[in-house]
Amino acid sequence: MAEILVLVEHVDGAVKKVTLELLTLARSLGSPSAVWAGAGYSPDAKAQLAEYGADKIYVAGAAEIDDYVVAPKAELLAQLVSAAAPAAVLVAANAEGKEIAARLAIKTDSGVITDAVGLGEGVLAEQSIFGGGVDVKSRVAKGTPIVAVRPNAANPEPAAGAGAEEQVSVTLSDAAQAAKVVERVHEEKGARPELTEAAIVVSGGRGVGSAENFAVIERLADALGAAVGASRAATDAGWYPHQFQVGQTGKTVSPQLYIAAGISGAIQHRAGMQTAKTILAINKDPEAPIFELADFGVVGDLHQIVPQLSEEVEKR
Ligand code: FAD
Repeated sequence: MAEILVLVEHVDGAVKKVTLELLTLARSLGSPSAVWAGAGYSPDAKAQLAEYGADKIYVAGAAEIDDYVVAPKAELLAQLVSAAAPAAVLVAANAEGKEIAARLAIKTDSGVITDAVGLGEGVLAEQSIFGGGVDVKSRVAKGTPIVAVRPNAANPEPAAGAGAEEQVSVTLSDAAQAAKVVERVHEEKGARPELTEAAIVVSGGRGVGSAENFAVIERLADALGAAVGASRAATDAGWYPHQFQVGQTGKTVSPQLYIAAGISGAIQHRAGMQTAKTILAINKDPEAPIFELADFGVVGDLHQIVPQLSEEVEKR
């Protein structure tokens, strides 16, 4: 069966959910091989990768890989592409994954597709472009297909793989060592999931009215185990930090459920959330453009509706 390489995303030795999604998608294309780069590989990680279908696990565990930015991972993947001739390489469509994908495409003289929201037989990638106005299906026509897939493009489903481990040593070129990590500044890690990976996102806009009122949004997010997002109107007003902005100039999210409260649905906001599987809009204006996009709409004051919703969810 055709081998599909999946670059593992991991933090402090823990495999991130997006990797389990990619392994699930890879199974529909062939035989998944997980590629672990950097320190932190453990029997637990191995067991989890095998549980989600990795038939093979390439381990390049040299800690020095973590000392440099993304280049070593691109070099490692290029090395594996040349040795194993896989049918495709899948990475997560986040900032790092997309840069790795681009570098790998150049190194292997291959085509690359980014921001895929689905993946089908023959590595047919689905993208949603122009603010959700157009769905595109495309295939890489040259070299090894490299596809950066957005988080939440698939539900991670376990299916045992052989999990055969193969140690790989990667020789870093001078170019890979050109940019070195000097310091890692850890963002304060809250209890909420990471915005771009969360299965549910609750976002607030100008309709929230103030920084203090964002507590209403946070309460619903916490009741649902969701991440909090915000429109640019809310972040520009200083009501919520910019790192949580969703949209063209903010983060792109593709959750299972996106709740937009007090957000009008401007094209620049849609660009960051329109690939959500289900959209619930809460807005007091029945003509708000967000309702054109929403699967479910509630017309009313968010300050009444959102607390009621939180209360109901908290009861369950
Ligand atoms: P508004 O458009 O003012 O809408 C507020 C909504 O809240 C209204 O629909 C109103 O009916 C409703 N409302 C008010 N009070 C209540 C209440 N009590 N209960 C329920 N509903 C209520 N925007 C982004 O979000 N992300 C981006 O990344 C982004 N990038 C941009 C890039 C560029 C180059 C430009 C030009 C703009 C960008 N914008 C972006 C801004 C975008 O055009 C909109 O201005 C912005 O999204 C509006 O935010 P909003 O929906 O919260 O506010």
